[in-house]
Amino acid sequence: MDLSRRVNTDPRRALPSVHRLAESLIRENTDLPRWAASEAAQRVITAAREQFDAQGADGEGEIEVPEGEEIWLDRARVLARALASAHPRRVINATGIVLHTNLGRAPLAPGAAEAAAQAAAGYTDLELDVASGRRGNRLAWVSQRLGQLTGAEAAYACNNNAAALLLALNTLARGREVVVSRGELVEIGGSFRVPEILERAGVKLVEVGSTNRTHLRDYAEAIGPDTGMLLKVHRSNFELRGFVKQVELGELVHLGASRGIPVVEDLGSGTLLDLSPHGFPPESSVPARLREGPDLVCFSGDKLLGGPQAGIVLGREEWIAAMRKNPLARALRLDKMSLAALDWTLMTLLSGRGEQELPVLRQILLPPREHEARTRAFAKRLLEEAVAAGAEVDLEVIHDRVPVGGGSLPGFELDSWAIALKSRESAQVIAGRLRDADTPVLARVRDGVVLIDLRAVDEEEVTGLFEALGTALH
Ligand SMILES: *Cc1c(COP(=O)(O)O)cnc(C)c1O
Repeated sequence: MDLSRRVNTDPRRALPSVHRLAESLIRENTDLPRWAASEAAQRVITAAREQFDAQGADGEGEIEVPEGEEIWLDRARVLARALASAHPRRVINATGIVLHTNLGRAPLAPGAAEAAAQAAAGYTDLELDVASGRRGNRLAWVSQRLGQLTGAEAAYACNNNAAALLLALNTLARGREVVVSRGELVEIGGSFRVPEILERAGVKLVEVGSTNRTHLRDYAEAIGPDTGMLLKVHRSNFELRGFVKQVELGELVHLGASRGIPVVEDLGSGTLLDLSPHGFPPESSVPARLREGPDLVCFSGDKLLGGPQAGIVLGREEWIAAMRKNPLARALRLDKMSLAALDWTLMTLLSGRGEQELPVLRQILLPPREHEARTRAFAKRLLEEAVAAGAEVDLEVIHDRVPVGGGSLPGFELDSWAIALKSRESAQVIAGRLRDADTPVLARVRDGVVLIDLRAVDEEEVTGLFEALGTALH
């Protein structure tokens, strides 16, 4: 059946009207809100008109116009469904990468999410001292808990780590020079570049050393009457190997102390626990960094810490007090929902239950044997169901290595297990279908194979994952 016809008159007349298309959408799905149906129909028809106009503009005059409403209805249905669902949508992270910036980094523990929801849904004593009825400090509780957990003299929390660094720079060194190694002028995710943040913070960047090597004397020689800070930035998302030299935080602290200049570290990602017994690099531990003696350390709340989006600053009381008074602090402050989730997360760490209760810690510390057994059981069930449904799949449980992700621990990989899937369709097609599922599933594709890693998949998400795989493979 030929669904196209050739026209040499105005091809746009073959298109259904926006109104008719919207009505058809609502007729087939009465739950669809009218605004979503109208918007989707409008966009689909406008895009089609523009496409015909562009094709017609070459003067050929012969354009293929699909007949009937079906093709437009198909396009509009997908769009209307997307418009009518809440965003961001829940997705299943089957990549094995625990901290995935595109997937929202750390998932909160249920208790932390509940604390955020409670704070959101009612009034709270956010900035009130209930006992006296006077105005209180919104950060009083989390600051205390951070102090208890890390031994820091003072603590501060704001919107995210980029904000924390901005505030630290602007407070300690506005209008002055900040010395940074050329090997640490990093970009973290497209929109965060250290040199640009420094510029916007109103400080002057003084680069020292070379890309691969920076010595203590490079810093020492750069110090002048205008120097306001020595800044160390964790590379977070890449490694330097080979002929490499960088100055350790402790050495920089000595230099700063001898010249009366504050030393600040942007650690990026840090945990409040010591994960080195589990083989994690020692610099991931915030308390260990603080023991090196910097004036301030800042890091994200939603990376290895396993809490909500936040920027946490720990260090000397005099600097933290100055940061609190900076007018920018108001623009960068932490909202009540994140604050509630952060407080819950810190209390859980104080109780020694972090490794059991915080999803990020649970997932990165997952014993490989347990992961393997779970993966094998899942693969067995998947294969049985696929065979019963008559699907042709080829699957294998493989040993794998995955990064922690999210700008944490570059070069460090976790021992992992994954299900490698092949079917008649290409890996890209299967991965695309998994993303199209009711609850989209994100998987890795490598060497033409789809890899499903269950590390970051919750027990309650397993059913959704099975459904998505069942549909994608048939
Ligand atoms: C991730 C990261 C940041 C940005 O943190 P956000 O919490 O996303 O604002 C800044 N610096 C370093 C070194 C990082 O790793």
